[in-house]
Amino acid sequence: MAERVFNFAAGPAALPLPALEEAREHFLVLPGAGASVMEISHRSKEFTAIIEQAQANFRSLLKIPDNYRVLFLQGGASMQFIMAPMNLLQHSGKAADYILSGSWGNKAIKEAKRVGDVRVAWDGKPEKYVRTPAQNELDLNPDAAYVHFTSNETIEGVEFFEEPDTGGVPLICDASSDILSRPLDISQYGILYAGAQKNIGPSGTAVVIISDEVLARVPENLPAMLDYKNMAENNSLYNTPPTFTIYMIMLVTKWLIEDIGGLDKMYALNQQKAKMLYDAIDASGGFYRGHASPECRSIMNVTFRLPSEELEGKFIKEAAANGLAALKGHRSVGGCRASIYNAMTVDGVTALRDFMNDFMASNG
Ligand SMILES: *Cc1c(COP(=O)(O)O)cnc(C)c1O
Repeated sequence: MAERVFNFAAGPAALPLPALEEAREHFLVLPGAGASVMEISHRSKEFTAIIEQAQANFRSLLKIPDNYRVLFLQGGASMQFIMAPMNLLQHSGKAADYILSGSWGNKAIKEAKRVGDVRVAWDGKPEKYVRTPAQNELDLNPDAAYVHFTSNETIEGVEFFEEPDTGGVPLICDASSDILSRPLDISQYGILYAGAQKNIGPSGTAVVIISDEVLARVPENLPAMLDYKNMAENNSLYNTPPTFTIYMIMLVTKWLIEDIGGLDKMYALNQQKAKMLYDAIDASGGFYRGHASPECRSIMNVTFRLPSEELEGKFIKEAAANGLAALKGHRSVGGCRASIYNAMTVDGVTALRDFMNDFMASNG
């Protein structure tokens, strides 16, 4: 088999090897099913066990209270950009507050504006999205339909480490790129959603954790596929879901529980990995320049520049030749980005850190 590189892709991103290996082992025949997981009914007892196990794994990892539902919906996180407003803004007679700390928040706002009034409660754009706001900078409307924020801006590498205090207004979070990277207090959220392909599995599914209280606000007569209540009542099986993706999510969350030992352990590892790279940046005397303000630095997406675009190109190319793949920053912002989600090992980050130091020594 060709060798697997250390993959720093932002998404779809590296998956934990034990999960991939288990999927490979059962690729042709899922034990007990006599066929591949891709070849059996989504209503079979074997698949029912898989989706229920995936939900149970989320419940155990995030200590999700009983009055929340765990849904697997299609269309990725981008579908949630319009689904949440259709369910909670469009017919509410209210406006929604959006905290804007980067590119994905911008996309979420664009979609919400199609169906309702949006207020920007804080705008990080004038500062080029280098940080998240302090609580006292938020201009929140106590009568808002909800407050939306992006816990980790994947493109800029800027992360919230504390939820904004909404004073009782439902909080909606796009956690696509940091879900399951650390423990969270789910009771603070009305909805927490995430596209799967950063931290929890292959692309094509969004995990949506939603409170019963928010579900009760959903109006009648929404299109069936865009109706949270319909999806919750049918346990995400209104139509045929992406069964293989849900199977992989079950395996990845199982790995987090059984191999890693839960989210406290995962968080400690993620902090350790991020610190290695930020320390290398800070010790480089300005050769590497981090994008985010230090207190808002993402532990998932480490964004940085080199002294010139030419050196950045050389860095990305030579890194790839050394088995360190996909370090190019997002096309909208340039520079370099190392995505170090849960599945990236300490070994991979150590190899990158050493490469950064070597590259500086020969090019600085
Ligand atoms: C990747 C990403 C998205 C988009 O996810 P899709 O599943 O491709 O729609 C949205 N928000 C954030 C924070 C992301 O990182």
